[in-house]
Amino acid sequence: MSDSAQNSSETVAAPIAARILVLFGTRPEAIKLAPVIRELNEVGHFETVIVSSGQHKELLRPILDIFGIRPDHDLAVMTVGQTPNQVLSGTISELDSILADERPDLILVQGGTETALAGALAGFNRDIAVGHVGAGLRTGNLRSPFPEEMNRRLITQAATFHFAPTAENRQNLLKEQVSDKQIFVTGNTIVDAMKIARKIPHSGQVEKVLEMTGGLKRIVLTMHRRESFRKRMAEYLAAVQDFVESHEDVCVIFPVHPNPDARKIATDILKEHDRILLLEPLRYVDFLYLMENSWLILTDSGGIIEEAPSLGKPLLILQQKTERVEAVMCGIAKLAGAGPGTFAEILEHCYLADSWIRSAKQMQNPFGDGDSAKRIVEVLSTISRPLAAER
Ligand code: UDP
Repeated sequence: MSDSAQNSSETVAAPIAARILVLFGTRPEAIKLAPVIRELNEVGHFETVIVSSGQHKELLRPILDIFGIRPDHDLAVMTVGQTPNQVLSGTISELDSILADERPDLILVQGGTETALAGALAGFNRDIAVGHVGAGLRTGNLRSPFPEEMNRRLITQAATFHFAPTAENRQNLLKEQVSDKQIFVTGNTIVDAMKIARKIPHSGQVEKVLEMTGGLKRIVLTMHRRESFRKRMAEYLAAVQDFVESHEDVCVIFPVHPNPDARKIATDILKEHDRILLLEPLRYVDFLYLMENSWLILTDSGGIIEEAPSLGKPLLILQQKTERVEAVMCGIAKLAGAGPGTFAEILEHCYLADSWIRSAKQMQNPFGDGDSAKRIVEVLSTISRPLAAER
């Protein structure tokens, strides 16, 4: 072989594929990372290692089925009555040996769960770069959401690359002295996930619920945040019950989170009523369809707040403060207020002919255009090659 032929075969040698370990454990993490995993696989120059901590075992499986994701490792950390510390320590410990075997170039985590914090710390301690999807969300109150606000701040400290959904999130990171060069404003991958899921047909199960509630104004309700459990959740639910009882054309559909504390309060406070339906969690595709067919959404779920602008559905946030200020700023959402009295008044206002909820519609989405995963993977393509070359 001539020298020049030998040189040219050297120059076309395939670059080393960067190996990305993607970690999730809860329903919202899987929803928001699914489009990124799909994109990583589609572009073809990454090796992926998919790891589930199993933090929300039964909620996770249907999501993985919808998006066709099969974890390479399942840490199965979920135990009955698990505490945040157990999830955190169990995940770090299990993940550590996987990191030793798989030797990824980068770990991708999402949001502010214990799983995400465990991934960020485990990666940092093994000197592996950490990419944080959904970076920069802050309420400014360490007790709310609890313990996610603290988790997010700690993940920011451990992460190398910060994928901020919005410009507001970027500002929050800059205030914490994160270097602007390490922040990438990408949009929120939940918009991408909805785009994929809304192409899949919904099931007969949700059709039945819609039939049963035909002609009524449907309130879709979810509530499960840890800091709401004590008095606040009971107060909100009691106000919802009063509202349904005093308006014959209103019904409530409440897929109850499997968390035993959330379940107990829901069944203790909401009395049997033919216009209040307590359901098991719905499949993602069905739940999106239910929201599309709702009159009003009441929730403390971060993911649902992020979904509302894509659906053009008005939403009351069952919290005093939100880290998703963009939803309030664009006019699709309002905070439910500080006390039960205020919340009841806000609900009554929604019922009025000239209420703000009548003008809620599909809008310029503050959470992006559904191409966030593409942007994240473009950034990963640039930053991870040098990391792989060092391997
Ligand atoms: N969701 C679902 N089925 C349900 C209720 C919610 O698929 O019965 C979806 C919802 O559309 C959103 C996500 O689950 O994308 C929110 O998850 P969760 O409320 O558990 O977590 P959070 O968003 O509060 O972190």
